[in-house]
Amino acid sequence: MAYKVVKFGGSNLKDIDGINKILAAIKSYNQPLVIIISAFYGNTDKLAHAIGRAIKDKLDLDGFISDIYNQKLNTILNSVSDEKLINEFKKELKVRINKLKGFLLGIKYIGEVPPSLYDEILSYGERLSSLVLYYILQNAQIECQEVFPEEIGLITDGEFKNATVNLELSNASIQKNLCENKTYVIPGFYGVSLKGKITLLGRGGTDYSAAAIAACLNAVLLDLWKDVKGFLSADPKIVQNAVKIDSLTYAEAAELAYFGSKILHPRTPEPLINLKIPIRILNIDDSVKGINPLTIINGKETVKEGIIKSVSYSDNFGILRLLGSGVGIKPGILAKSTAELDKAGINIKSVITSQTAINILLSQDDLIEAKKVVDKEDIRGISKIIVSENISIIAAVGEGLTSHHGIAARIFTAVARKGININIICFGASDVAMYFIVNQNDRDETVKEIHKEFFINELCCNTCI
Ligand code: ASP
Ligand code: MG
Repeated sequence: MAYKVVKFGGSNLKDIDGINKILAAIKSYNQPLVIIISAFYGNTDKLAHAIGRAIKDKLDLDGFISDIYNQKLNTILNSVSDEKLINEFKKELKVRINKLKGFLLGIKYIGEVPPSLYDEILSYGERLSSLVLYYILQNAQIECQEVFPEEIGLITDGEFKNATVNLELSNASIQKNLCENKTYVIPGFYGVSLKGKITLLGRGGTDYSAAAIAACLNAVLLDLWKDVKGFLSADPKIVQNAVKIDSLTYAEAAELAYFGSKILHPRTPEPLINLKIPIRILNIDDSVKGINPLTIINGKETVKEGIIKSVSYSDNFGILRLLGSGVGIKPGILAKSTAELDKAGINIKSVITSQTAINILLSQDDLIEAKKVVDKEDIRGISKIIVSENISIIAAVGEGLTSHHGIAARIFTAVARKGININIICFGASDVAMYFIVNQNDRDETVKEIHKEFFINELCCNTCI
């Protein structure tokens, strides 16, 4: 039997309704599964917040620990009837909770958190979810085993908070440690470095861990059960008549995710591309109706008439602008600045240069720190550094974008009709995405106009039906 890897959001574990949806989905497959689970909603943020408070010795440790303990215990008390299972669960829950407590206590005493401990603590959101799911499956008589990424050898490059899975090293160990005729429950979001340290795979990284495990097992598919209606042509909060996209290439899905679509972690396609393992997006709210993929992401390139398949946006970008006459041509300025950003652990999302300005696109949260570290270096040739906040990045995505003429013109004409000012444009960096920057106040109007321009036929057809 071929491996099937499925991922569920831990938020579905919080009540009976959600638990039943997960159980319905699992039963529909009628075969053993490799199940990856993320933390309960908000748990990862709570753990990060607790670390911050513990460092300042302001954490009510007992209160925090008993909140987490009770949340998990209540879930099991509400959904499991077998006393023996409940007692077993309580025992193991106490073991994990006590470890977590010990870590936080350590931080409280030393007043700082080593990076390895930070990652280890945040992994507890997922570790507690997998424990809960394991007991729910036991109770439903679905035979399974809970295994941890560090046990099966999901090896990473060791970068804390934002590690990359080393597929070559993970392949052999994961294949050796799992077998096809068993169901497994595995916490997502982290792997282990060669030195044995827990390393997180970036926020929202459970999709990515599921993809890496699917790749290592050469699974036939990766199913992501989400509370969404699949990938849409735009955010339905902005465009009410956005249409569903049945299929996307790996690159299109990755770009949409990178530029703000919250459906999937942008790195999810990465491990699957060469193996051509399809990713299917399914709606957990409909799991009782069986397995009905909404969007399938695979290697099949389809060029849509009109090219653009979706318009996405993100507000989590800011620009660090290095100004000076000739910054674009003088050697070393970009290298020096980016080296400083790298040293400070700041991720660069994009760079667009001209003769008088280097524009470095960063996450909004990194902007102030980025300005500080580059400013401090006093790099010759830079006369002024400014930051642009309150911007939105708008991306239009579709296979064939760079090979068909007139697409950019249609986008910008549509935006110009509303008198919206466009800041920076980037076209050609990716074969399937173009993006540009507008003022945040113009974001919704921009998305609406582009959508109207490219989806008018579909909308008309839908209305006609
Ligand atoms: N729990 C982690 C986070 O919130 C990972 C995930 O949800 O995928 O970032
Ligand atoms: Mg999450």
